[in-house]
Amino acid sequence: MLLTPILLSTPDVGELEERYVLSAMRSGWVAPAGPDLDAFEAEVADRVGVPHAVGLASGTAAMHLALVSWGVGPGDVVPVSTFTFAATVNAIRYVGAEPFFVDADEETGNMSPTLLARALTQLREESASVPVVVPVDMLGKAVDYTAIAEVTREFGVRLLCDAAESLGATWQGRPAGSFGDATAISFNGNKIMTTSGGGMLLTADPKLAAHVRKLSTQAREPVAHYEHIEIGYNYRLSNILAALGRAQLTRLDAMIERRRGWRVRYKEIFAGQPGVRVLGGSDDRGDNCWLTAIVVDPLVSAWTVTELAEVLSEAQIHSRPVWKPMHLQPVSRDLRGVLDGTSERIFDTGLTLPSGSAMTDDQFERVAATIQEILV
Ligand SMILES: *Cc1c(COP(=O)(O)O)cnc(C)c1O
Repeated sequence: MLLTPILLSTPDVGELEERYVLSAMRSGWVAPAGPDLDAFEAEVADRVGVPHAVGLASGTAAMHLALVSWGVGPGDVVPVSTFTFAATVNAIRYVGAEPFFVDADEETGNMSPTLLARALTQLREESASVPVVVPVDMLGKAVDYTAIAEVTREFGVRLLCDAAESLGATWQGRPAGSFGDATAISFNGNKIMTTSGGGMLLTADPKLAAHVRKLSTQAREPVAHYEHIEIGYNYRLSNILAALGRAQLTRLDAMIERRRGWRVRYKEIFAGQPGVRVLGGSDDRGDNCWLTAIVVDPLVSAWTVTELAEVLSEAQIHSRPVWKPMHLQPVSRDLRGVLDGTSERIFDTGLTLPSGSAMTDDQFERVAATIQEILV
C-alpha cells in the first residue's frame, strides 16, 4: 500500500482563504499596500492587545528592524536564547551586534531567568554595552515573562520578544506578543497561522512602529519625490498576503484547539512510559500547542527518540529533532554565552511530532498506531 506522508505542520488553508485572496485581487489592491494590510494589522493588534502592529515580509524582518530602529549595532552585546531557530540570532548578526547565548529552563526549553541574570551580571562586570535581550517562546509556550521582565528591569535593558511560534498563546492570561518593548511574530508556512510568508512587529511604542513602517518601505521621506535621509529596507507585507492572513486569523482559535487536541492525545499515549515527558511542562493551558515535542530520558526509557523516529519514518510519518542549540552551530563558533547543558540535553533526547491543524483524524490515528509499536 502506498502511504501518503504525514508532515509535522503544513499550511491549513481552504475555501475561506481562497475567497479572501480573490477578493483582495479583484479589489485592485494587488501591490504592494492596501486596505487588507491595514485591516490585518488592526485585527492582529486587537487580538494580541497591543496598540501598534506593522506587517512585514517575515518575522526575521520584524526583529531586524526593531534592532535597527533602536540603533543596536557593532560593539553591542545581545543576550538571546540559544534554544531557537537560526532566524533569531541572524537578526542580531545583521546589525553587527554580538549574540550572547543564554541556556534554557529544563521543563519548557525557554530562556532561564536565572541564567539570564548571570549573563547580565557577567556582561556588566565586563562593562559591555547591552541594549536589549531576546527570549524566544519555544514551540508555542510563552516565556516566563514575569521572571524575565524582572531581570531586564533590574539591569535596565530592553526586551525584544521572539513570539514567532506563539501567536494565540498566553502567559498568566495575557497574550504572547504583548510583553516587552516589542515583539516579532511570524506567518511563515509552518507556523500556527500563515500568510505563506510574512511577519509583524507588535509594540506599544508609536514612534517605534512608525519608524519600522518607514524603514520597511525603503525609508522614503513623506514628500512627493523620492527623498531618503536614512538606509531603508524592502520588508513590507503585501496586501494580497495580508488578505490570506485575515482569513487565517478568523480561524486561529479553531486551529489552536485542533493542535491542542493532538497534544492531549500525545499526553495520553505517552502517559505510562517511564522517562518520557512532553516538553513544556504539565501546565500547558496557555500554550498554543504549535508543535508537540517529547523528551525521552535514555537512562530510564526502554526506547529512544532515534528509534521512535525510525519507526515513524518507515510509516512515512515525519518527526524532527527539536532546534539544535545555536551555540552548537558551526556558524556560531566564535560566540559566547552562559550555558549549562540543558538545551543540549533536550536536543539530544527530544523529538517533535506531527502537530498540524490540517492533519486529519485518520492521519492522527495512523501516527498513534505507529507509536504504539514501540511503547512498553
Ligand atoms: C519561524 C521562526 C522565526 C522566523 O520567522 P520568519 O517569518 O520565517 O522569518 C524566528 N524565530 C523563531 C523561533 C521561529 O520559529
